[in-house]
Amino acid sequence: MISWSSYVTARSLDEALEALAAPPGPARAVAGGSDLLLELKEGRLPPVHTLVDVAAIPELTRLSLDEDGLFIGAAVPLGVVARSELVRTHAEAVAEASALIGGPQVRTSATLGGNVAHALPAADGMIALAAMDAQAEVASASGRRLVPLLTLFRGPGESALLPDRELLVGFRIARRAAGEGSAFARVMRPQGVALPILNAAVFLKREDARIRETRIVVGPSGPVPRRAAALERLLLGRGFDKETRSQLHEAIPTELSFRASPQRAGADYRYRLCAVLLDEVIAEAWRRAGGTL
Ligand SMILES: Cc1cc2nc3c(=O)[nH]c(=O)nc-3n(C[C@H](O)[C@H](O)[C@H](O)COP(=O)(O)OP(=O)(O)OC[C@H]3O[C@@H](n4cnc5c(N)ncnc54)[C@H](O)[C@@H]3O)c2cc1C
Repeated sequence: MISWSSYVTARSLDEALEALAAPPGPARAVAGGSDLLLELKEGRLPPVHTLVDVAAIPELTRLSLDEDGLFIGAAVPLGVVARSELVRTHAEAVAEASALIGGPQVRTSATLGGNVAHALPAADGMIALAAMDAQAEVASASGRRLVPLLTLFRGPGESALLPDRELLVGFRIARRAAGEGSAFARVMRPQGVALPILNAAVFLKREDARIRETRIVVGPSGPVPRRAAALERLLLGRGFDKETRSQLHEAIPTELSFRASPQRAGADYRYRLCAVLLDEVIAEAWRRAGGTL
């Protein structure tokens, strides 16, 4: 069943924005199509008149490092992100998450732009970008703006982006400095595809044997992704020792909010799993930041 009447392959951002705004019926951007086409096919989204393919727009396929830091274009295929030396050096959590999304076929076409714009609270790439404090570059007819990634979410599957007027151009991440490290890990059901039971990404800055700065994001916890601020505060100024780990575990139920999802896991299981997953991810980020355990 075809759920659109017209397909436009945009060659520039202006062309894409025009095609989104101009058609006689609703229009929507498509990058890899791995989320969108399924949603249209299964009727979870109303049919659209025009699909605007953004995967060939040069700015959206750029992956580079400059004085402003790392830039990952919204339409760079996840397989390219996962293998990129630049991403592995400056945002290891993002490379790790990208390498785990779907299988090789999905990663050939699916993108971080689609992962973020779909706005699911446990999307792997999005969780890793959030822990890296990524800024999203958004384009509209009135120009470009940089916004913190976590401002782009309204609810599960509900993005703050206006689908017929705004496009994600890419994500900016600060260069990695000495003493910094990041990591991502997740737990899937054995035959699971798409979303995990639980995922977590952590950024750490180490000063001698102490954590000087950290960002922790766990999904799915609540309707929109957010930083686990109380857990972050607890780690500041400390090493990742036994006592810190035990206090962190105690704080999980007050800071994170897990629910049961029939196809994935019960809430209790997620709370118990979270302690193990956070231990693993924080220890890895700490090690990458040059710390010893
Ligand atoms: C078999 C399978 C396995 C999967 N496994 C995982 C997994 O392990 N982890 C995970 O997180 N996800 C998984 N997914 C979901 C999906 O592959 C990812 O979310 C992917 O990153 C979506 O990117 P895409 O380019 O295909 O997006 P599309 O399907 O093209 O688009 C998704 C949404 O984003 C919008 N959009 C796309 N690009 C832009 C842009 N530049 N600006 C604004 N809006 C845009 C579209 O309009 C649409 O609303 C899986 C999907 C499949 C089919």
